[in-house]
Amino acid sequence: MWIGPRVTNDTVLIAGGGIGGLATALTLHQIGVPCAVFESAREMRPLGVGINLQPNAVRELLDLGITEDDLDRVGLPANEWALVGLNGNDVYSEPRGHLAGYQWPQYAVHRGQFHLLLYRKLAERSGPEAIRLGSRVTGYRKNAPGSVSALIEQADGSTSEATGKLLIGADGIHSSVRAQMHPGQPPIHWGGAVMWRGTSWAKPIRTGASFVGLGTHRQRMVFYPISHPDPETGLSMINWIAEVTMDNNEGWKQSSWFRQVGIEDFVHHFADWVWDWLDVPALIKRADGAFENPMIDRDPVPTWQDGPVALLGDAAHAMYPTGSNGGSQAIVDARVLGAAMVEHGVTPEALAAYDARLCGPVSQLILRNRGAGPFGLLNLVDERCGGTFDNIDEVIPPRERAEFMAAYKVAAGLAIESLNKAPRTIPSGARARR
Ligand SMILES: Cc1cc2nc3c(=O)[nH]c(=O)nc-3n(C[C@H](O)[C@H](O)[C@H](O)COP(=O)(O)OP(=O)(O)OC[C@H]3O[C@@H](n4cnc5c(N)ncnc54)[C@H](O)[C@@H]3O)c2cc1C
Repeated sequence: MWIGPRVTNDTVLIAGGGIGGLATALTLHQIGVPCAVFESAREMRPLGVGINLQPNAVRELLDLGITEDDLDRVGLPANEWALVGLNGNDVYSEPRGHLAGYQWPQYAVHRGQFHLLLYRKLAERSGPEAIRLGSRVTGYRKNAPGSVSALIEQADGSTSEATGKLLIGADGIHSSVRAQMHPGQPPIHWGGAVMWRGTSWAKPIRTGASFVGLGTHRQRMVFYPISHPDPETGLSMINWIAEVTMDNNEGWKQSSWFRQVGIEDFVHHFADWVWDWLDVPALIKRADGAFENPMIDRDPVPTWQDGPVALLGDAAHAMYPTGSNGGSQAIVDARVLGAAMVEHGVTPEALAAYDARLCGPVSQLILRNRGAGPFGLLNLVDERCGGTFDNIDEVIPPRERAEFMAAYKVAAGLAIESLNKAPRTIPSGARARR
């Protein structure tokens, strides 16, 4: 018996109910397009740790009717982004969100809680049957014009098909839809950096809502709070990422890309990272456990579209998290796709317009993040003084630092003036063209 979204020939099928897939479903609901989400997980659980929602994505979330109160329940507005050298001196710092002059805040959120927030919103608006869990999309078949079928494998191993008007592959970095669209794509790319991620309760430092990247380009610790402080204890949930770059000549040796590990497996790399303002080993040891994952991405592809099928989110542009914009870009993708349907209807032409607008520039961003994204400033420090400095102005003058960061913001669609001036991606009340 079919339990799940009602699928008709007019339905847009969405493979994957992650942040990208759910933002797409909420957007299509807003513009009056029926859709159905097929998610391989059997249940929605709050998986993952911290992620940043940049002002361009927060703007889109607010336009989707998700409020700052909603976001304050799963995270907090970020006030500062800072890079600190191993001597404890600032390499660079800048205000973020409203403090930087954006009309919208930046949020640091718990990825799992935020994901569940999107899931609840979609279930409230479209009914819980809008998402079919335990349904893995294994590929697609293009039918006569105006029709595409998603091939689905249920959690019990049985198979079925769903036929609709368009298929959006939002099925993440290991996307089956992308594998069929680009059968010759190279394997996942790993540059040698390994990340251990976790959360610990601790007193937030600096502004109380600061993103701090500490160390060198080959070994660093990134941490930032993802909850408002508890009024009684003053402690916030601190998201941390401990990162070491190693030799990648033989490729990734572990059997999976994402696995739970013990703190003792990696904390020794940071044993002497202790200052009067921060004790890294103590922070790490306060966590219940950690996840190990290599920093991976995929080579860009020339197009995200194959007729009635398009890729979105990590399926389209898995990138290194150095720019903290993978989740944000998935949300922006969903909104640009919605805007294209407002203009061109629920058609392959809409997918072509979406592809033309985003595939080129976002592919450039993938490569820019490989070059360390905004953390590239640490590479410069290393090249010029081996990472040891007394006065950063003598190593990288303030103007050069500011220009470096401004160039990244332009590439990521985060230039303050242009974002503030840009009209809404989807005008209020707009519906997809019939
Ligand atoms: C479990 C998990 C934990 C994460 N934790 C973090 C984190 O802590 N910090 C961080 O910065 N980023 C994290 N990410 C990545 C981050 O969420 C994404 O980079 C970003 O949000 C883009 O989202 P996406 O929806 O495109 O991809 P994803 O978030 O990867 O979502 C893809 C979704 O599709 C589902 N799926 C996969 N294959 C299929 C298929 N064939 N058919 C149907 N469904 C399929 C997956 O179960 C998943 O729900 C995590 C991703 C996942 C899946």
